[in-house]
Amino acid sequence: MWPNFRQYILHFFMRKSILIIGACGQIGTELTYTLREKYGNDAVIASDIREGNESLMASGPFELLDATNYAAIEDVVMHYEIEEVYLMAAMLSATAEKFPMRAWNLNMNSLFNVLNLAKDKKISKVFWPSSIAVFGPNTPKENTAQNTIMEPSTVYGISKQSGERWCEYYFQKYGVDVRSVRYPGLISWKTLPGGGTTDYAVEIYHKALSDKEYNCFLKKDTKLPMMFMDDAIRATMAIMDADAQKIKIRSSYNLAAMSFTPIEILESIQQHIPDFKITFEPDFRQQIADSWPSSIDDSKATEDWEWKSAFDLDKTTKEMLENLAT
Ligand code: NAD
Repeated sequence: MWPNFRQYILHFFMRKSILIIGACGQIGTELTYTLREKYGNDAVIASDIREGNESLMASGPFELLDATNYAAIEDVVMHYEIEEVYLMAAMLSATAEKFPMRAWNLNMNSLFNVLNLAKDKKISKVFWPSSIAVFGPNTPKENTAQNTIMEPSTVYGISKQSGERWCEYYFQKYGVDVRSVRYPGLISWKTLPGGGTTDYAVEIYHKALSDKEYNCFLKKDTKLPMMFMDDAIRATMAIMDADAQKIKIRSSYNLAAMSFTPIEILESIQQHIPDFKITFEPDFRQQIADSWPSSIDDSKATEDWEWKSAFDLDKTTKEMLENLAT
């Protein structure tokens, strides 16, 4: 049950039951491993509408669960006496443009289900991720501030901005302890990304190793905010562990680590694979990327809960290539 004595002691003193909804996705998979390492395998219930990879399924309890089904979530919450829910199920930016109503229904109804469970005191704390997609073409692009013009132009961005307003509303009106960050594009090697506009920054490492060439769906000078998964998980744990009075923003915090263009990631990879080549064939995702900021000011997260990123582009490249090569 607990692979080592440290986990047993941690679990004993920090006992709480956690439910992750959407646990088999790019972030949920790594979040499940990290929370299980911290709180014990049996304390963290992974759930998703589909099964995850073999190691995730073997690492602890799993429930097949539809995030849009309130009664089903409530059953799992009651059965395992869940205190905290991490809601990672969503339809991401590129896929949401193809299925606007499905995206809206999933992204909003899943959030209402979890917020209402907290409002009714069936759970005590919620994590829900927002995104840099809350910003739009009229947002200042460089060092985008926490509070600025938003006006998102994608289905995904509209759902995330609405979600932020509802999180703040549930906090103000009902005292729901909901915490959120606006993740930038996330880069990871354990699980593939699930239909976002920044997916190229993961695919490129796979292709660098397998084919030594990559056909990029964004233009070479498209600069976007990005983050290595370890930083994203650390930020998620930090905001959830912080004292409630430190969380001054109940919509969602800006979060940043690095910003780069496809050419800059190419150059970083070429330091390890000199003959790696890239071609460019922008598709519909270019328009989405053009509507987002190039860099993000995350000073509020630093001020309020001591956030600081640890991975820049070259460190990310080294981690990605080393781990994907093995
Ligand atoms: P993902 O697409 O990789 O994973 C989402 C998971 O949700 C999948 O495993 C999917 O099977 C599951 N799911 C879909 N519909 C469901 C349903 N009805 N019930 C239960 N599970 C369902 O996404 P991700 O990249 O892990 O993103 C997680 C969260 O973080 C999302 O809210 C996303 O908007 C946000 N986010 C991600 C990024 C990123 O770069 N990955 C950036 C910003 C914000």
